[in-house]
Amino acid sequence: MALENPRYKKMLDDLLDACKHHLPSVSDVMITKAFEFALEAHKNDLRASGEPYFTHPFEVAMIVSQEIPLDDVTVVCALLHDVVEDTDFNLDFMVKEFGKEVTEIVDGVTKIGGIFKGQEITQAENYRKLLLSMVKDVRVILVKFADRLHNMRTLEFVNQDKQRRIAQETLEIYAPFANRFGLGQVKWELEDLSFKYLNREAYEEIARKIKSKRKERESYINKFSEPIIQKLNDYNLKYEMNGRPKHLYSIYRKMVKRNKPFEEIYDLFAIRIIIDTENTNDCYTTLGIVNQMYLPVPDRFKDYVSIPKTNNYQSIHTTVVGPEGRLVEVQIRTKKMHEVAEKGVAAHWRYKENKAASDKELESWVNWIRDIFESASKDDARKELLESFKLNLYQDEIYVFTPKGDLRRLPVGSTPVDFAFEIHSKVGFHCIGAKVNGKIVPLDTVLHSGDQVEIITSKNQHPNKNWMKFVVTHKSKTAIRKWINKEEEDIIDAGKEIWEKKIKRLKLSFTPSDLAKLTLSLKFESPKLFYKAIGQGKINLDEVLTATREKEEKKEKIPSLEFDNFASIARTDIGGVLVDGKNAGIMYSYAKCCNPIPGDPVIGYITVGEGIKIHRKTCINLIRISEKDSSKLVPVQWPEAEGSLFVAGLSILGEDSAGILNEISHTIVSYQNTNIKSININTTDSMFEGSVTLYVHNIEHLARIIERLKKLKGVYTVERFESS
Ligand code: MN
Repeated sequence: MALENPRYKKMLDDLLDACKHHLPSVSDVMITKAFEFALEAHKNDLRASGEPYFTHPFEVAMIVSQEIPLDDVTVVCALLHDVVEDTDFNLDFMVKEFGKEVTEIVDGVTKIGGIFKGQEITQAENYRKLLLSMVKDVRVILVKFADRLHNMRTLEFVNQDKQRRIAQETLEIYAPFANRFGLGQVKWELEDLSFKYLNREAYEEIARKIKSKRKERESYINKFSEPIIQKLNDYNLKYEMNGRPKHLYSIYRKMVKRNKPFEEIYDLFAIRIIIDTENTNDCYTTLGIVNQMYLPVPDRFKDYVSIPKTNNYQSIHTTVVGPEGRLVEVQIRTKKMHEVAEKGVAAHWRYKENKAASDKELESWVNWIRDIFESASKDDARKELLESFKLNLYQDEIYVFTPKGDLRRLPVGSTPVDFAFEIHSKVGFHCIGAKVNGKIVPLDTVLHSGDQVEIITSKNQHPNKNWMKFVVTHKSKTAIRKWINKEEEDIIDAGKEIWEKKIKRLKLSFTPSDLAKLTLSLKFESPKLFYKAIGQGKINLDEVLTATREKEEKKEKIPSLEFDNFASIARTDIGGVLVDGKNAGIMYSYAKCCNPIPGDPVIGYITVGEGIKIHRKTCINLIRISEKDSSKLVPVQWPEAEGSLFVAGLSILGEDSAGILNEISHTIVSYQNTNIKSININTTDSMFEGSVTLYVHNIEHLARIIERLKKLKGVYTVERFESS
């Protein structure tokens, strides 16, 4: 039994102690069982640090029991979170051993890893399902954050590339998510750790400077706090007061954003007063005390107690002039508010009396995420998701009112259009003007806290591309983008219809490759854009079609007619002699100009000293020579050439995309191990033109490859070319 090992026995004791200290109720039996099970399941695995793998789930369990404590089920899930993914135990087994609740959470943790990885965000349907599991049980998210936190704390053991990749992902996705769920403490640590690995130099410099200023800061904060402490005691308020820790990454971000040196950012002192009380009014009493002692700076006062932030953050912020005329920012909050600020969703859940009841606040936490997932279109999902995260990450909020006096929260910088979409998408779609505080204003006016906003709508008004330049909320951006895309689709459809009617009337036929060539020659990047131009009335189809027809006629006339001539001449002049490659004594070789391959219609040309050169019947070179002296042409049959390889050339035309070269070569090579002789891709705007020469057995072989290439996404045409 593994627990006989004193090391593991101590780990289990530590975990149970932590749980008992932080959690409302603890099932020793369940936690011990999960502990032993995870220990056994991971017994053969090691971490990058060389430690037994089990230390990871153990530390994750320690984090969820101490740092974001919720309940013992979460601790059990943390212990088991990597078992299904990394070992041979499956979900059915887990249901039997630990029940449905635990299994569903563990399953959710495994799956949301994919969401966070971003590149797997390709199917909207999948996120919706995953999102539902997150919404259903917020513990999935807690375990996932604890997992990432431990991985970030131990990031030094992996290689540099991986460090950067994971740090970037953490900063872009996990930290904003943590912020959204109110996990303030986790968010700060994730950011600081990411910062350390992404910009070590800046990180170390800031850390060094903070250290050198610590003493000075502490003594100033003490001087500042003294009179406040006395008063709080007079009022019999129980409190905790401390210099608010400043996080390295937030200092760095402010330095960059405001383009100011470290000293200016850091010299704004900050303290936090946490009052041990159930009574919200004590916050205002404390505010009064602070303002009595020191002069408040107007405009710097924020009351998030009366109006919490969207992530349920509550606190009073005020800035006062301290001793020596230095500015000090003071945050005032109750113990519960503090816990919610640091532990967000976990604290909220704990304070909730009836855990099963539906919950408005919890809903507001997840609605934001639901919005993002539901509105993200398939193709742009990852991009949009990241954009929204960045948008929502550090956005401050303003509070504005509807004409009826209802409060709406919007990000700083919002305009009447954002407000309109916030009210309802229909209002957004038809908004034509706005009144702010009773006055008509332009739609791009920036709103301020306290504004009363009224939207004027008109049935005939529709979103406009220019709106994208000033709207700021995710909701309005997505709605407008969708509308613009839809409008564009309609124009494309209309253009396509005009085009199809036209060629039908003129009895013309266009294969997709004909069309691709035509649109390319007209300098359109894709047939879609060509249709769009038709739909918008930007091109004259009659002109285009006449020009193409003339070109086509010219092209086809020369070779085909000439060829008919020389073919008949050849036969009469040689008098029907059949030259067979197998016939001994006659030397033959294949012409380099047209590279015939078995199956091609061919004809021989008698050379001086090199025997018969075999050309394709369509070879332009051959046609030219035969114009001068057709007496040297001889009909030939394909010699037996099984097993031999012949060079053929293909030209490929299509939409340029990352990896297209790779896809083309993979398609060729993966068919019967076909060898490529050369490959060359030129790109212009969003198109590419490639030429490939490859070794084939015969014309069938080449035809199969052409077929496969044509099926590639974004490939318009694949054609054999004459000479290489
Ligand atoms: Mn893990």
